[in-house]
Amino acid sequence: MDLAQFVNTLGQDLLRQYGERVHKVSIDAGFNCPNRDGRLGVGGCTFCNNASFIPGQNDRPGIHEQVRTGAIAVERVTGARKLLAYFQAYTNTYADVELLNNLYQQALMQDHVVGISVGTRPDCVPDPVLDLLAHIQAQGHLVWLELGLQSSFDETLQRVNRGHDYACYVEAVERAHQRGLKVCTHLILGLPGEGAEHARITLSRVLEQGVEGLKLHPLHVVKSTRLAFQWRRGEYEPLQQQDYIDLAVELIRRTPQEVIFHRLTGTASHDLLLAPAWCEHKWAVINGISGLMAKNGWHQGDLCVADQIYREPLSSDRMLRLGTTT
Ligand code: SF4
Repeated sequence: MDLAQFVNTLGQDLLRQYGERVHKVSIDAGFNCPNRDGRLGVGGCTFCNNASFIPGQNDRPGIHEQVRTGAIAVERVTGARKLLAYFQAYTNTYADVELLNNLYQQALMQDHVVGISVGTRPDCVPDPVLDLLAHIQAQGHLVWLELGLQSSFDETLQRVNRGHDYACYVEAVERAHQRGLKVCTHLILGLPGEGAEHARITLSRVLEQGVEGLKLHPLHVVKSTRLAFQWRRGEYEPLQQQDYIDLAVELIRRTPQEVIFHRLTGTASHDLLLAPAWCEHKWAVINGISGLMAKNGWHQGDLCVADQIYREPLSSDRMLRLGTTT
């Protein structure tokens, strides 16, 4: 069952724009993160072991080589010949503008690369960086700014040691939009202390900011993280697969059709993943989402009511047993 029948996916959007398939290829440009290197914090987010993004990152080839080998793999598996270079690992705006431009250009200079998607933190996008991205966009390249928010609840952000608050995200989105940049916001379902109501409210707040893209994934426990300690001590219970599917489907239905979903689940490699085990199998989740929508005749945006924002208060009796701590 094709997910794109029910959801406005990035793949479909790129197909419409370019008339052929365009696939993301992940780039590890060797950045660090200010929440890990001591500038803003140490240890990073409680769930972060960045090796889970790109296993084997220690023998990292250059950007040109990463794009080249990515292109070969993508074409072999999907048939796509055009690429969106996704600067994914760590914080991909955490350097001076000259160096950033150099790194981004190394990807953009390759013929089959249509643009860049840059993953970063809301507190790491100063005006000169946004100006650079806007300049790249003005040159005719596709540019997405991917902001990791995860939750709009400051107490949750503190609990997982994000090192920024929701207001910081709102301000970053506003400055990006002033420059005409498209923003994709990353949200995690099943964060410690959060239930389905938190996810609904976070979605509503993010949509109020007018974001153009969303990325959803379940919180997974990977090795060598503080979350792994909490999970081992029984202080964190991951989501069940069906609970994740049900909640993701509801959020998709609450999202206007013009918003593009870049991702609806996340995976970690077998070597790193501790729990939940179902996070190893991306397609079971994707098929679960599209199957549920097909069975019920649902589609993205069918729960949206124009100008009506979901603001139902949190109430403990309606909380689901999602991602709770003890
Ligand atoms: S902001 Fe991203 S890279 Fe930095 S610690 Fe958190 S999850 Fe890891």
